[in-house]
Amino acid sequence: MSNTQPLKGPWTHRLLVYFFSVLFGILIYWLLGFFMRDIGTWPGPNYPAIENRLGDPKLTQEAATVQNQIDEIKRATDSRQQQQKVVRDSTSNSEKTLNQLLELQKLTLQQAKTPAVEAAQALAESQRLFLANQTKYQEINDQITSLNEQLDTLENRHRTLLKQIEAQRPAIEAEFGRLQTRHNFKVAAGKLAVLLPLLGLAVWLFLKQRGNLYSPLVYGFGLALLVKVGQVMHEHFPTRYFKYILILIAIAVVTRILVFLLRAMAFPKLDWLLKQYREAYEHYFCPVCNYPIRLGPRQHLFWTRSSLKKLSVPATATLSSDEPYTCPVCATALFEACPACQRVRHSLLPACTHCGDTRQILQAPPGLKP
Ligand SMILES: [Zn+2]
Ligand SMILES: [Zn+2]
Repeated sequence: MSNTQPLKGPWTHRLLVYFFSVLFGILIYWLLGFFMRDIGTWPGPNYPAIENRLGDPKLTQEAATVQNQIDEIKRATDSRQQQQKVVRDSTSNSEKTLNQLLELQKLTLQQAKTPAVEAAQALAESQRLFLANQTKYQEINDQITSLNEQLDTLENRHRTLLKQIEAQRPAIEAEFGRLQTRHNFKVAAGKLAVLLPLLGLAVWLFLKQRGNLYSPLVYGFGLALLVKVGQVMHEHFPTRYFKYILILIAIAVVTRILVFLLRAMAFPKLDWLLKQYREAYEHYFCPVCNYPIRLGPRQHLFWTRSSLKKLSVPATATLSSDEPYTCPVCATALFEACPACQRVRHSLLPACTHCGDTRQILQAPPGLKP
């Protein structure tokens, strides 16, 4: 007898087993997520590097230089304009002073007096300042005009350079796209290289350990892996080949599991088989083909599993027969001589009712090969 009783215990224990199985699955899922994310951070193609390789770097350099010069000239113009503002204020001040002094001089002359020496000096000084300011203002104006001319030239040059750089762009972008596709391919391959061996391991464990003591671990592991594989599949579905690779693998996995389940149903495990045999013997049916076992007082009766209790059969009539019995339909021996005590025993149950001798039960019903 194999020792494959399902795990049973206090309900708190079973609840904890469920809880930790789920927790185990979630942790595995996280771990896989870390792997996938790390693989996803592999460096991809570098746009500036491609630009340098395919484009003319001189153009870009010159454009940068010209842009610097433009900025420089704009700054210079700004500073000139600030100076001009200061000169303008100063001019308007000296203009006012000059006007007042002229007014004063006019009054003095009307009163037929000779203007004081100081007043004449102040007037001359004021005139000189006013004229100097005017000259300075004009000078700055000339500088600004010259700067504006330079700015025009540089901006024209910059526009031409930008147009040339723009003309190179389609080739660079095509190359970048090609490298990006190749990079995506590599990332997907890396993810599969991690996931597929694990998926194989999960399937193998599922087939080997199913129903065993540690099956919750296997289920948690397998489920987390399946979800992750589905996620990667979804993420990389646009990549042409991967959807075929992954869908073929998924079909293979599902087929393998389905075959296993179908075989498990056709060739039940020993304890299921024993349960089936025991129930059949209890209801006087052949465990293999379900034909009634008509022995002793039941020889001429007819019954089904539900009508069995209503049969008026003497209580003394036990099923155990005194002579060997073979099912007339499927030719399976149902009662036979015990090799130990030579009395008649159940052929398909483990122990002899007379001497207790035990025997190995066939894994599969006769006629089917496991
Ligand atoms: Zn039979
Ligand atoms: Zn015996």
